[in-house]
Amino acid sequence: MKLAEYDISHPFTATVMKSERITNSNTAEVRHIDLSVRNESFHFIEGQSVAVLAPGSEAFGNERHVRLYSIASSREGEGSKPDEISLCVRRCFYIDPVSGERYPGLASNYLCDLKPGDTIEMAGPYGRHFMPPRDSSHNLLMIGIGTGIAPFRAFMKHIYEDRKEWTGKVRLFYGARTGMDLLYQNEQNQDLANYYDQDTFKAFEAVSPRPHFDEPVDFDRTFVDNVEEAWSMIKDPNTHVYISGISTLEEALDRAFAKAASSAEAWETLKAKIIEDGRWSTLLYD
Ligand SMILES: Cc1cc2nc3c(=O)[nH]c(=O)nc-3n(C[C@H](O)[C@H](O)[C@H](O)COP(=O)(O)OP(=O)(O)OC[C@H]3O[C@@H](n4cnc5c(N)ncnc54)[C@H](O)[C@@H]3O)c2cc1C
Repeated sequence: MKLAEYDISHPFTATVMKSERITNSNTAEVRHIDLSVRNESFHFIEGQSVAVLAPGSEAFGNERHVRLYSIASSREGEGSKPDEISLCVRRCFYIDPVSGERYPGLASNYLCDLKPGDTIEMAGPYGRHFMPPRDSSHNLLMIGIGTGIAPFRAFMKHIYEDRKEWTGKVRLFYGARTGMDLLYQNEQNQDLANYYDQDTFKAFEAVSPRPHFDEPVDFDRTFVDNVEEAWSMIKDPNTHVYISGISTLEEALDRAFAKAASSAEAWETLKAKIIEDGRWSTLLYD
């Protein structure tokens, strides 16, 4: 669905409760932002997004600059406060392809500059296609990159803190440029480490082989190193696959899974079956 097709005709206000940087100063800035939502009819589930209505650019005559952000909290609300949600926002820049100049992205810079007490306009929530299965014996295979971790943080909180009875395997393959960029699993914030002692949970990290160059994250190697784990899960008809983050991720995964399946055709056949069964969900953005 195109951004312009999202219904933002019923906006509401949210107040910033907290904004903290969750990457260190040597790497890209990503912030965890807690918002108190002033809208009694605002209810959401894991994997949904909200629209942030940032002030537009005068230069382009836009009153509002609208961008979507995944909710990083479970449906119980951030810290079990039903009116609070959190977002995980990377400060983005746009490189002009002609001049090569770097411009700050309007919405992400607006969000990253907010201070506690500031208010913003939002709309949503949107997108019901990225949900945990009802059956708690089913497996979750979550594959994410960068800020794509946000809906998985929400899933993990829901499964292990709200539902508690989860018996299916939960596997997180998470990629970032460097170890410092592994969100919610680095020195700045350890939220996901809360689940490391769950018998059903395992996390696998993939980082770029050459973080200073524009090398893609090394999912191929991570899958090959853990081929039994990833492959036995993906073949299991009770496994639901969730993919989240920037859109180049799906191509990288197709390559990695084709290698694990021994051929692109074998992987395409299996993937088509998973999609047909409704067990393949993606939340990808450019
Ligand atoms: C369903 C959905 C969920 C999203 N969830 C999140 C989220 O949880 N956290 C988040 O930070 N963004 C998320 N995004 C991206 C977000 O909507 C904006 O596109 C992003 O913040 C850039 O907007 P901007 O106005 O700052 O800059 P723009 O001028 O629109 O873009 C600046 C540049 O940043 C690149 N870019 C955009 N998003 C990212 C990213 N996350 N990481 C690296 N580069 C990026 C763009 O390709 C562009 O080149 C999501 C997008 C969608 C469609």
